Amino acid sequence: RKIGYAIVGLGSYATRQIMPNFAGCEHAHIAALVSGTPAKLENFGDQYGVPKTHRYSYADFDRIRDNPDIDAVYIILPNSLHAEYAIRAAKAGKHVMCEKPMATSVADCQAMIAACRQAGKKLMIGYRSRFEPYNRLAIDLARSGHVGPTRLITAEHGFPIKPDQWRLDKPLSGGGSMMDIGIYSLNAARYLTGEEPVEVSAVESTDRSDPRFRTVEDRISFLLRFPSGIVADCISSYSSGHNSYRINGTQGWIGMEPATPYAGQSMTIRKDGVTAPRTLPPAGKTQFAGQLDHFAECILTGKTPIVPGEEGLADLRVIEAIYQSAAQGRSVRIGA
Ligand code: NAD
Repeated sequence: RKIGYAIVGLGSYATRQIMPNFAGCEHAHIAALVSGTPAKLENFGDQYGVPKTHRYSYADFDRIRDNPDIDAVYIILPNSLHAEYAIRAAKAGKHVMCEKPMATSVADCQAMIAACRQAGKKLMIGYRSRFEPYNRLAIDLARSGHVGPTRLITAEHGFPIKPDQWRLDKPLSGGGSMMDIGIYSLNAARYLTGEEPVEVSAVESTDRSDPRFRTVEDRISFLLRFPSGIVADCISSYSSGHNSYRINGTQGWIGMEPATPYAGQSMTIRKDGVTAPRTLPPAGKTQFAGQLDHFAECILTGKTPIVPGEEGLADLRVIEAIYQSAAQGRSVRIGA
């Protein structure tokens, strides 16, 4: 049996990346759509063969409870709405896949985890890079000491943001580049080490006279120290393009540039004085289909997702510490 997803929010990421990738899924299909725009429900409903009875507005969202064709929801809304819809979905008896950042505060992440646990439903965060072959290889190589034990990671993510969108409105986004794109640097530092940072030091630079940055930050640079001593030096930016990381070991480095785009990852390894590209055979499934199928398999077999709600919470804990460090001009201990 295929798991039926209700797609919640028919914006750019949902309609251009996620929905087309169901075609490559073995265990998942689009069962329902949720949107505030009737024309989108009609157009995408017809395009994906979703019956009229399975198209919902936000006002009718809780009626998904009565639809047995919906096993899970996939929340692809502006960040500050994730918690509300995740909790309503859990109360309606549905499993929850939620986009990154999981929510805009640690408290909201905890409430989402509690709601899903209470309902006996699974919760997963849309960290698609964990289903992308080069990132998976980078994790294996870094953690197995392919270039010697990891000493330092550098990670950079950013893009020049266009004006007039919810990402620049703090009540909807929860923050600026860090919440949106810098989270990829943070998440990579965590998955490449397999450790949780214990200390963070951050510096922010935002031109508040730029109309894009009235309520959210532009650039934020943060340094993470991990329990084993690994240091991660990370960049988040809304004013320049970056997409890379490098794992520096005692015998060389593993570089990924680009590291986390929708497609086209590229890896280079320098080991024992020799620098060479590392290429993998073409993947059978895209990272998007891999992510959708993984959650479906977890629902079908009772397994816990590799990126459960606790992963989203762990990132939010560090993000709150990054903002605190930047605001206070001092390093902040995490988890103490
Ligand atoms: P978007 O603006 O294209 O889509 C957001 C949708 O939410 C729109 O259809 C909008 O109509 C709807 N919406 C519902 N209530 C709203 C409200 N009160 N205010 C504003 N919009 C409202 O944004 P997007 O790029 O699709 O991002 C949606 C989510 O997906 C975000 O959490 C984002 O971080 C995440 N995302 C993840 C990736 C990834 O690679 N994993 C990529 C892009 C976006």
